[in-house]
Amino acid sequence: MLSRPIIEGLTPKTPVHTIFCIGRNYAEHALELNNLIPTSPVVFTKPLNSIIGSGGSIIIPPFSNDVHHEVEVVVAIGKGGKNISEAKALNYIFGYGIGIDVTARDVQQKLKDKSHPWDVAKGADTFAPISNFLPANRVPNPFDLELELKVNEEVKQSGSTKDLIFSIPFLISYLSTIFTLQSGDLIFTGTPKGVGPLAKGDKLKATLGDNLVSLNVDVKI
Ligand code: ZN
Repeated sequence: MLSRPIIEGLTPKTPVHTIFCIGRNYAEHALELNNLIPTSPVVFTKPLNSIIGSGGSIIIPPFSNDVHHEVEVVVAIGKGGKNISEAKALNYIFGYGIGIDVTARDVQQKLKDKSHPWDVAKGADTFAPISNFLPANRVPNPFDLELELKVNEEVKQSGSTKDLIFSIPFLISYLSTIFTLQSGDLIFTGTPKGVGPLAKGDKLKATLGDNLVSLNVDVKI
């Protein structure tokens, strides 16, 4: 579980470097949690130990009673850079995957109330399930890329990157003005509406596009 994950397909194989995440990037999701629509990206990171792959298990930690799923398109950076222009940003992408930004919602609410950072709510072990990555040239249209999450075979979340408030090229450009991006960086691009609680024994299936890539995980305590 805690070995450093590898982005398949990059040559040489590249370990994941930094996991960037974007909060509140779909309007209907921001509103379902009573948040304002952001005017600039909400950015946080997750530690590498939060990653699990397909076939793994999300472990609900003892400090939360309300762990939520947030299905998200994840972008893998294949080429590093600083101050990348939005026009050229797609050239820096290795590929696209599907991930779940697992969130201890009760903990996050308490942290938000105190204006504290979200790390404890977002970064626990197993809180970043991620699929393999499909090379960018096999993704037909990154501006209308569908994502879906089924929990126990019931569709809980579905959306498309066409509804992102901040587009994928904008996010790459924006992040690169703050952080030098490196090959192996990942960007969780935000979740559509429909987030909800997970319970022991749940089986999750997240898919990107028309079954381009999928991720299967279960839930344990
Ligand atoms: Zn999220």
